[in-house]
Amino acid sequence: MERVSGERRTIEVALPLPLFQTFTYGVPPEMPTPVAGTRVVVPVRNRKAVGICVGSTAAETVPVDRVRDIAVVPDEDPAVGSALLGLAKWMADYYVVPLGIVLRAILPAALGDATAPRPRLRTERIAVLARDLPSLQERDRLFARSRRQRELFEALEQLGGRSEVAHLVSRLGFSAPVIRALVSRGLITIQAAAVPRDPFAGRSPAPPPAHEPTGRQRESIDALVRAPPGDVFLLHGVTGSGKTLVYIELLREIVHRRGQTAIVLVPEIALTPQTVDRFRAVFGDQVAVLHSALSDGERYDAWRALRRGEKRIAVGARSAVFAPLEGLGAIIVDEEHETSYKNGETPRYHAREVAIVRARAEGAIVVLGSATPSLESWQNAESGKYRRLSLPDRVGGARMPAVEVVDLREGRSPSAQHAGTSLEPFRKVFSESLEAALGERLQRGEQSILLLNRRGYASFLQCDSCGDVRTCPNCSVSFTYHRTPERLVCHYCLREETAGDTCRRCGGATVRQHGTGTQQVERLLAERYPYARLARMDVDTTTGKWAHANILDRVGRGEVDILLGTQMIAKGLDFPNVTLVGVVDADVGINLPDFRASERCFQLLSQVAGRAGRGAKGGDVVIQTRVPGHHAVVCALSHDYRAFVDAEVAARRHPSYPPFTRLAHLVASGDREDATAALAERLSEWLTAALAAWGRDEVTVVGPAPCPIERIKRRWRWHLLLKSERPASLTRLGRALMERFPVPDAHALRVTFDRDPVSLL
Ligand code: ADP
Ligand code: ZN
Repeated sequence: MERVSGERRTIEVALPLPLFQTFTYGVPPEMPTPVAGTRVVVPVRNRKAVGICVGSTAAETVPVDRVRDIAVVPDEDPAVGSALLGLAKWMADYYVVPLGIVLRAILPAALGDATAPRPRLRTERIAVLARDLPSLQERDRLFARSRRQRELFEALEQLGGRSEVAHLVSRLGFSAPVIRALVSRGLITIQAAAVPRDPFAGRSPAPPPAHEPTGRQRESIDALVRAPPGDVFLLHGVTGSGKTLVYIELLREIVHRRGQTAIVLVPEIALTPQTVDRFRAVFGDQVAVLHSALSDGERYDAWRALRRGEKRIAVGARSAVFAPLEGLGAIIVDEEHETSYKNGETPRYHAREVAIVRARAEGAIVVLGSATPSLESWQNAESGKYRRLSLPDRVGGARMPAVEVVDLREGRSPSAQHAGTSLEPFRKVFSESLEAALGERLQRGEQSILLLNRRGYASFLQCDSCGDVRTCPNCSVSFTYHRTPERLVCHYCLREETAGDTCRRCGGATVRQHGTGTQQVERLLAERYPYARLARMDVDTTTGKWAHANILDRVGRGEVDILLGTQMIAKGLDFPNVTLVGVVDADVGINLPDFRASERCFQLLSQVAGRAGRGAKGGDVVIQTRVPGHHAVVCALSHDYRAFVDAEVAARRHPSYPPFTRLAHLVASGDREDATAALAERLSEWLTAALAAWGRDEVTVVGPAPCPIERIKRRWRWHLLLKSERPASLTRLGRALMERFPVPDAHALRVTFDRDPVSLL
């Protein structure tokens, strides 16, 4: 076989294919060798695909006769700079994903299309003066009988020699024939120019807040400004403590004084238009907002502006961590505990972890901000891996809201007193306390926020008399109720118990939970308060591009008396006239079969409570629950994050869960139930054999078991959990599995590997 010698140049290309390898292609003689990170269009079987050159081939390894040539190199500059290429390689390794698939995910979608290698920019027609007319005499002669042509010519002179045609027509009133006449006389030309589309351009942010930082804010800002590159900070600040001002002051230093760039990650742009507006108010045009509702073209425009250094701050949800900025000085991860930072599809990266790896490689600092940090970040701060900064008080002397807990258990529920009256349906959902609090706000012209986070998929058995929920004795997670056959199953250890129809604790009748959704609650409110202005915010009411912002803007203008919604209303909102937050049913989610269920519940209750009383009028919170003694509820009531952590940490040690061990979640799925179960069984055997051959017991395999959500989109799902205290062992085992495990029928069956999962459902 012939080997590559000096005359044939070959490169390695990463392609978005499910194969753990790069592909060798030849460089045609007339073409310069592309540098690593450059896009290349290459033949793959009988079609063309876009890949990324990752470097030259180690020459002696390539059988030259089987290598095909690159078709096109569409761009002059690499699409991926060397730092981002390094980050992509880390992700490919850590999350066990082919490099080409990682690269496709970190680049704007528009760059992945082989048929249009260079995405079309939106262009606008620009009229440009083509000739000077210095002498008045010549002007008089040329425009003798065409006054409008002269006016157009002189308008263009005043506009600096060029103007958008649209502006000339719609603002200045010149007609198309007048413009055409100047073109045909050679006095102007029409050019096409790329226009960047800024979807936030239409929103006019409020003027920058002229606040002087408080002493506490100043301490945090000083620590951040003095930090050496690569440091990671956990900014633990209660709701309303002014974390945004700390971010802004840090960015002033990084961007204005040091001339560096920065990334600000927010859980979801649509839910936090106020936060985005604050950054735009201070940094204006330097900010690129990467919105999930952007079209591919809009996203590409923003990407290009960042790549060229025309914008220096990227604000966006998780994928903004890949913003192509050079000279990165800081990455801010606001509400770092939010699960939306985890990508739900391959590559299943966590933007917070990627941010830390990227920042270390590029010499930037990281700020993780939250009122309710994830246990992982808290533990890292405890161990000294991260540095902790605290903002323990609300700014401006505002107090934390007073929280009242209403016990909804039978006998205590007020519905009994109103049986048969017209108030009965309302009273089934709203306690007297919550009703009285709402009534007061309506009378005083203040605003209320109501949370009902109803997600109905995992059902559990709960006793209506004592609130007891059946949980697995081995795993401290609630049993999942199965109907066919009727039984309780623990999804971690597979333990089964009979359901029974009486409560094991108090002997009362056990009932399955049936939820009341937001829609029904909205109707109850409308009937009870016919004159109140209601707004509902949940997935169903926010399908439009600006739906979230529109609803929140209405609240901000005082046009809404009661805002009702799912968890999407819990984040970041800062409305001083909101003096009441009501949690209609705090128990939603608290008993999901996931070891993080309590943590999520505590975070949600704390975050939504934090929306109340941010102004001078103060505020109250009413939480309705059947588990008033649950530590998530008790600690949210007293705004006591540390007490919550102490209780929760104890529960995570035995059996061990993060932050005390690392997890990978393996899901086997397929269209047939028996084949899926068999695949999960084989996975387990394969892993056990691999670990035995390896001669180590650093990884524990738990399962297999059916997933709590047994079927999604008509696919059956089984799962296994890999636990280890050594991240490298999980990487090695995961890699071996994903590369070598033979999936018997790859069309029908699938295995996914999810490193550091945020959900085990
Ligand atoms: P957090 O994100 O910590 O919940 P925000 O950053 O939204 O809090 O700040 C809460 C409110 O306090 C905002 O309205 C903000 O403008 C205001 N604020 C922040 N810092 C100061 C300050 N130093 N002086 C006065 N008001 C401030
Ligand atoms: Zn169990």
